[in-house]
Amino acid sequence: TAALSIRNLCKTYGNGFEALKGISLEVQQGDFFALLGPNGAGKSTTLGIVSSLVNKSSGDVEVFGHSLDKAHAQAKMCLGVVPQEFNFNQFEKVMDIVTTQAGYYGIAPRLARERAEYYLKKLGLWDKRNQVSRMLSGGMKRRLMIARALVHEPRVLILDEPTAGVDIELRRSMWAFLQDINRAGTTIILTTHYLEEAESLCRNIAIIDHGRIVKNTSIKALLQQL
Ligand code: ADP
Ligand code: ADP
Repeated sequence: TAALSIRNLCKTYGNGFEALKGISLEVQQGDFFALLGPNGAGKSTTLGIVSSLVNKSSGDVEVFGHSLDKAHAQAKMCLGVVPQEFNFNQFEKVMDIVTTQAGYYGIAPRLARERAEYYLKKLGLWDKRNQVSRMLSGGMKRRLMIARALVHEPRVLILDEPTAGVDIELRRSMWAFLQDINRAGTTIILTTHYLEEAESLCRNIAIIDHGRIVKNTSIKALLQQL
Protein backbone atom coordinates (compact mmCIF):
# COMPACT_ATOMS: atom_id res chain seq x y z
CA THR A 1 0.00 0.00 0.00
CA ALA A 2 1.03 3.58 -0.68
CA ALA A 3 2.00 5.82 2.23
CA LEU A 4 -0.42 8.39 0.88
CA SER A 5 -3.07 7.97 -1.74
CA ILE A 6 -5.20 10.90 -2.90
CA ARG A 7 -8.00 10.35 -5.38
CA ASN A 8 -9.99 13.02 -7.12
CA LEU A 9 -9.67 15.55 -4.35
CA CYS A 10 -11.76 18.68 -4.77
CA LYS A 11 -12.08 21.72 -2.58
CA THR A 12 -14.36 24.68 -3.02
CA TYR A 13 -14.01 27.23 -0.24
CA GLY A 14 -16.99 28.92 1.42
CA ASN A 15 -16.65 31.93 -0.89
CA GLY A 16 -17.11 29.68 -3.94
CA PHE A 17 -13.42 29.59 -4.89
CA GLU A 18 -12.39 26.24 -6.41
CA ALA A 19 -8.94 25.67 -4.92
CA LEU A 20 -8.64 21.97 -5.91
CA LYS A 21 -10.17 20.64 -9.11
CA GLY A 22 -9.58 16.90 -8.82
CA ILE A 23 -6.15 16.09 -7.44
CA SER A 24 -4.90 12.49 -7.61
CA LEU A 25 -1.50 11.30 -6.51
CA GLU A 26 0.31 8.51 -4.69
CA VAL A 27 3.35 8.70 -2.49
CA GLN A 28 5.16 5.43 -1.84
CA GLN A 29 6.52 4.36 1.51
CA GLY A 30 10.03 5.71 2.10
CA ASP A 31 9.74 8.41 -0.54
CA PHE A 32 10.87 12.00 -0.16
CA PHE A 33 8.15 13.77 -2.10
CA ALA A 34 7.62 17.41 -3.00
CA LEU A 35 4.45 19.19 -3.97
CA LEU A 36 5.80 22.08 -5.99
CA GLY A 37 3.89 25.03 -7.39
CA PRO A 38 3.45 28.78 -7.36
CA ASN A 39 1.67 30.67 -4.59
CA GLY A 40 -2.04 30.02 -4.64
CA ALA A 41 -1.72 26.75 -6.58
CA GLY A 42 -3.44 24.67 -3.89
CA LYS A 43 -0.50 23.07 -2.08
CA SER A 44 -1.52 24.11 1.43
CA THR A 45 -5.12 23.21 0.76
CA THR A 46 -4.05 19.71 -0.29
CA LEU A 47 -1.85 19.14 2.74
CA GLY A 48 -4.44 20.86 4.94
CA ILE A 49 -7.01 18.26 3.90
CA VAL A 50 -4.56 15.40 4.45
CA SER A 51 -3.82 16.75 7.93
CA SER A 52 -7.52 17.28 8.73
CA LEU A 53 -7.05 21.05 9.09
CA VAL A 54 -9.25 21.77 6.07
CA ASN A 55 -12.50 20.04 5.09
CA LYS A 56 -12.54 18.55 1.62
CA SER A 57 -15.47 18.98 -0.73
CA SER A 58 -15.07 15.53 -2.32
CA GLY A 59 -12.54 12.82 -3.03
CA ASP A 60 -10.66 10.22 -1.01
CA VAL A 61 -7.52 10.28 1.07
CA GLU A 62 -5.84 7.16 2.47
CA VAL A 63 -2.78 6.96 4.67
CA PHE A 64 -1.21 3.50 4.57
CA GLY A 65 -4.56 2.19 3.44
CA HIS A 66 -6.46 3.88 6.28
CA SER A 67 -9.21 6.11 4.96
CA LEU A 68 -9.20 9.56 6.50
CA ASP A 69 -13.01 9.31 6.71
CA LYS A 70 -13.52 5.71 7.80
CA ALA A 71 -10.39 5.06 9.87
CA HIS A 72 -9.59 8.54 11.03
CA ALA A 73 -7.69 7.63 14.20
CA GLN A 74 -5.45 5.08 12.45
CA ALA A 75 -4.75 7.48 9.60
CA LYS A 76 -3.91 10.30 12.03
CA MET A 77 -1.58 8.05 13.99
CA CYS A 78 0.54 7.55 10.85
CA LEU A 79 0.88 11.29 10.23
CA GLY A 80 3.07 14.00 11.68
CA VAL A 81 2.19 17.49 10.53
CA VAL A 82 4.23 20.68 10.39
CA PRO A 83 1.84 23.44 9.33
CA GLN A 84 3.00 26.68 7.77
CA GLU A 85 1.79 28.94 10.57
CA PHE A 86 3.06 28.68 14.12
CA ASN A 87 0.21 27.50 16.27
CA PHE A 88 1.77 27.12 19.69
CA ASN A 89 0.46 28.26 22.99
CA GLN A 90 2.76 31.29 23.35
CA PHE A 91 3.10 30.80 27.09
CA GLU A 92 3.73 27.07 27.17
CA LYS A 93 7.29 25.88 27.65
CA VAL A 94 9.14 24.18 24.81
CA MET A 95 9.38 20.83 26.62
CA ASP A 96 5.70 20.93 27.58
CA ILE A 97 4.62 21.67 24.02
CA VAL A 98 6.21 18.43 22.87
CA THR A 99 5.06 16.26 25.79
CA THR A 100 1.51 17.65 25.60
CA GLN A 101 1.35 16.60 21.96
CA ALA A 102 2.58 13.12 22.92
CA GLY A 103 -0.29 12.95 25.38
CA TYR A 104 -2.80 13.48 22.57
CA TYR A 105 -1.48 10.29 21.02
CA GLY A 106 -1.79 8.34 24.25
CA ILE A 107 1.93 8.14 24.89
CA ALA A 108 2.75 7.60 28.57
CA PRO A 109 4.40 10.59 30.31
CA ARG A 110 7.74 8.94 30.86
CA LEU A 111 8.14 7.85 27.25
CA ALA A 112 6.86 11.27 26.17
CA ARG A 113 9.67 12.94 28.12
CA GLU A 114 12.26 10.58 26.63
CA ARG A 115 11.04 11.24 23.11
CA ALA A 116 10.85 14.99 23.71
CA GLU A 117 14.41 14.99 24.98
CA TYR A 118 15.60 12.98 22.00
CA TYR A 119 14.00 15.21 19.38
CA LEU A 120 14.72 18.50 21.13
CA LYS A 121 18.38 17.51 21.32
CA LYS A 122 18.42 16.42 17.69
CA LEU A 123 16.93 19.72 16.63
CA GLY A 124 19.21 21.84 18.80
CA LEU A 125 16.48 23.02 21.18
CA TRP A 126 17.39 21.22 24.37
CA ASP A 127 18.90 24.36 25.90
CA LYS A 128 15.57 26.10 25.33
CA ARG A 129 13.40 23.41 26.90
CA ASN A 130 12.28 25.60 29.81
CA GLN A 131 11.59 28.72 27.77
CA VAL A 132 8.09 29.71 26.73
CA SER A 133 7.61 29.39 22.99
CA ARG A 134 7.06 33.10 22.35
CA MET A 135 10.70 33.73 23.36
CA LEU A 136 12.01 31.60 20.48
CA SER A 137 13.26 32.92 17.15
CA GLY A 138 11.40 32.02 13.97
CA GLY A 139 13.91 29.31 13.10
CA MET A 140 13.64 27.78 16.56
CA LYS A 141 9.85 27.78 16.38
CA ARG A 142 10.08 25.99 13.04
CA ARG A 143 12.32 23.32 14.57
CA LEU A 144 10.01 23.03 17.56
CA MET A 145 7.12 22.32 15.19
CA ILE A 146 9.17 19.49 13.69
CA ALA A 147 10.00 18.03 17.12
CA ARG A 148 6.32 18.20 18.07
CA ALA A 149 5.29 16.51 14.81
CA LEU A 150 7.71 13.62 15.39
CA VAL A 151 6.99 12.81 19.03
CA HIS A 152 4.61 9.95 18.18
CA GLU A 153 7.10 8.69 15.55
CA PRO A 154 4.73 8.89 12.60
CA ARG A 155 5.42 6.91 9.44
CA VAL A 156 4.77 9.98 7.31
CA LEU A 157 5.96 13.51 8.02
CA ILE A 158 4.14 16.30 6.20
CA LEU A 159 5.63 19.78 6.06
CA ASP A 160 4.03 22.86 4.53
CA GLU A 161 6.76 25.20 3.26
CA PRO A 162 9.13 24.16 6.05
CA THR A 163 11.93 26.52 5.06
CA ALA A 164 9.88 29.62 4.19
CA GLY A 165 11.52 32.59 5.87
CA VAL A 166 14.36 30.46 7.22
CA ASP A 167 17.94 31.63 6.65
CA ILE A 168 20.23 29.61 4.41
CA GLU A 169 22.29 28.09 7.20
CA LEU A 170 19.30 26.78 9.11
CA ARG A 171 17.71 25.69 5.84
CA ARG A 172 20.74 23.48 5.14
CA SER A 173 20.65 21.94 8.61
CA MET A 174 16.90 21.31 8.33
CA TRP A 175 17.46 19.62 5.00
CA ALA A 176 20.14 17.39 6.52
CA PHE A 177 17.85 16.52 9.41
CA LEU A 178 14.98 15.62 7.10
CA GLN A 179 17.27 13.50 4.96
CA ASP A 180 18.42 11.65 8.08
CA ILE A 181 14.94 10.74 9.20
CA ASN A 182 13.99 9.82 5.64
CA ARG A 183 16.97 7.44 5.49
CA ALA A 184 15.79 5.98 8.78
CA GLY A 185 12.49 5.12 7.07
CA THR A 186 10.10 8.05 7.51
CA THR A 187 8.22 9.02 4.37
CA ILE A 188 8.46 12.77 3.85
CA ILE A 189 6.08 14.98 1.93
CA LEU A 190 6.66 18.69 1.73
CA THR A 191 5.40 21.66 -0.20
CA THR A 192 7.70 24.24 -1.63
CA HIS A 193 7.73 26.87 -4.30
CA TYR A 194 11.49 26.50 -4.76
CA LEU A 195 12.49 24.03 -7.47
CA GLU A 196 15.95 24.17 -5.95
CA GLU A 197 14.65 22.83 -2.66
CA ALA A 198 12.75 20.00 -4.32
CA GLU A 199 15.77 19.26 -6.47
CA SER A 200 18.27 18.91 -3.66
CA LEU A 201 16.01 16.92 -1.35
CA CYS A 202 13.32 14.98 -3.07
CA ARG A 203 13.06 11.86 -5.16
CA ASN A 204 9.61 12.40 -6.63
CA ILE A 205 7.56 15.44 -7.31
CA ALA A 206 4.11 16.61 -8.27
CA ILE A 207 3.69 20.03 -9.77
CA ILE A 208 0.41 21.69 -8.97
CA ASP A 209 -1.05 24.73 -10.65
CA HIS A 210 -4.49 26.29 -10.35
CA GLY A 211 -5.76 23.33 -8.37
CA ARG A 212 -4.60 20.65 -10.79
CA ILE A 213 -1.61 18.32 -10.98
CA VAL A 214 0.23 19.30 -14.13
CA LYS A 215 3.18 16.93 -13.73
CA ASN A 216 3.99 13.93 -11.53
CA THR A 217 7.42 12.43 -12.04
CA SER A 218 10.84 11.78 -10.54
CA ILE A 219 13.17 14.72 -9.99
CA LYS A 220 15.67 12.99 -12.26
CA ALA A 221 13.22 12.81 -15.15
CA LEU A 222 12.08 16.37 -14.54
CA LEU A 223 15.61 17.76 -14.69
CA GLN A 224 16.28 15.89 -17.93
CA GLN A 225 13.29 17.61 -19.49
CA LEU A 226 14.38 21.12 -18.52
P1 ADP B 1 -14.32 26.16 4.52
O1 ADP B 1 -14.90 26.20 3.14
O2 ADP B 1 -13.27 25.11 4.67
O3 ADP B 1 -15.33 26.14 5.62
P2 ADP B 1 -14.06 29.02 4.70
O4 ADP B 1 -14.30 29.46 3.32
O5 ADP B 1 -15.15 29.12 5.69
O6 ADP B 1 -13.48 27.53 4.70
O7 ADP B 1 -12.77 29.83 5.25
C1 ADP B 1 -12.03 29.39 6.37
C2 ADP B 1 -11.19 30.54 6.88
O8 ADP B 1 -10.19 30.95 5.92
C3 ADP B 1 -12.01 31.77 7.17
O9 ADP B 1 -11.67 32.20 8.46
C4 ADP B 1 -11.58 32.76 6.11
O10 ADP B 1 -11.56 34.08 6.65
C5 ADP B 1 -10.18 32.37 5.77
N1 ADP B 1 -9.86 32.78 4.37
C6 ADP B 1 -10.70 33.32 3.47
N2 ADP B 1 -10.10 33.55 2.29
C7 ADP B 1 -8.83 33.14 2.42
C8 ADP B 1 -7.72 33.11 1.53
N3 ADP B 1 -7.77 33.54 0.27
N4 ADP B 1 -6.57 32.57 2.00
C9 ADP B 1 -6.50 32.11 3.24
N5 ADP B 1 -7.50 32.13 4.14
C10 ADP B 1 -8.67 32.65 3.73
P1 ADP C 1 -0.60 27.38 -2.01
O1 ADP C 1 -0.33 26.63 -0.75
O2 ADP C 1 -0.21 26.61 -3.24
O3 ADP C 1 0.01 28.74 -2.00
P2 ADP C 1 -3.33 27.46 -1.08
O4 ADP C 1 -3.78 26.05 -1.00
O5 ADP C 1 -2.93 28.15 0.18
O6 ADP C 1 -2.17 27.59 -2.17
O7 ADP C 1 -4.47 28.33 -1.74
C1 ADP C 1 -5.05 27.97 -2.99
C2 ADP C 1 -6.06 29.02 -3.37
O8 ADP C 1 -7.17 28.97 -2.48
C3 ADP C 1 -5.53 30.45 -3.28
O9 ADP C 1 -6.06 31.17 -4.36
C4 ADP C 1 -6.08 30.97 -1.98
O10 ADP C 1 -6.26 32.35 -2.00
C5 ADP C 1 -7.39 30.23 -1.87
N1 ADP C 1 -7.80 30.02 -0.47
C6 ADP C 1 -7.06 29.45 0.51
N2 ADP C 1 -7.75 29.38 1.64
C7 ADP C 1 -8.96 29.92 1.38
C8 ADP C 1 -10.13 30.15 2.14
N3 ADP C 1 -10.20 29.77 3.41
N4 ADP C 1 -11.17 30.74 1.55
C9 ADP C 1 -11.10 31.10 0.25
N5 ADP C 1 -10.06 30.92 -0.54
C10 ADP C 1 -8.98 30.34 0.03
